[in-house]
Amino acid sequence: EKFSLGLTGGIGSGKTTIANAFQALGASLIDTDLIAHALTRKDGLAMPQIREEFGDQAISDDGSMDRARMRALVFNDSAAKLRLEAILHPLIRSQTEQAAASATGDYLIFVVPLLIESGNWKQRVDRILVVDCAEEVQIARVMQRNQLSREQVSAIMRNQASRQERLAAADDVIVNEEELHLLQAKILTLHQHYLRLAAKKSG
Ligand code: ATP
Repeated sequence: EKFSLGLTGGIGSGKTTIANAFQALGASLIDTDLIAHALTRKDGLAMPQIREEFGDQAISDDGSMDRARMRALVFNDSAAKLRLEAILHPLIRSQTEQAAASATGDYLIFVVPLLIESGNWKQRVDRILVVDCAEEVQIARVMQRNQLSREQVSAIMRNQASRQERLAAADDVIVNEEELHLLQAKILTLHQHYLRLAAKKSG
């Protein structure tokens, strides 16, 4: 089993941006958001169960899960949220492990938005890298990218672990508040450290 890094951070912190930089250096990325998305596309593996559990209202005209509708449903209904997670989480987990088993990179990076919030994920990875940034920066990025109001972004952030909780669980931290090229040296140093840990793990 390869050395594995769990990469996490709050919404808009820059997880994807930073993960791509490590991939360019030779790590294998496994993005649980992309996997979840694929599961809920037209003919996605989760769609039969979602239709059975939530009915036709959960399905868009194009056959994919109606994300806006489901987001609204689970936002105010924690029982519905658990029902959806009971469908998605085992599928995400098995697809993740399949991807891990066939990955060819020097080590694995699991990109998991809610890693700190999940005991299972914390146990699965050898090390945790947190992409950190000021909450003001997160809010500004997500407002711009997703065309959301400040209040909408704040509401999402209140449902996630706090910056302090994430930092407390971190083995390594990248503060993503400057341009990417200014972070490259830090990324390279961490990558070299991970290569050494990966070599040690593989014996
Ligand atoms: P989410 O959890 O919402 O999927 P994320 O943590 O994966 O987000 P990204 O998608 O990487 O974050 O970044 C969020 C937005 O901020 C993107 O539009 C991205 O281009 C921008 N961004 C990320 N890092 C930087 C940076 N260092 N400088 C400028 N813009 C950045």
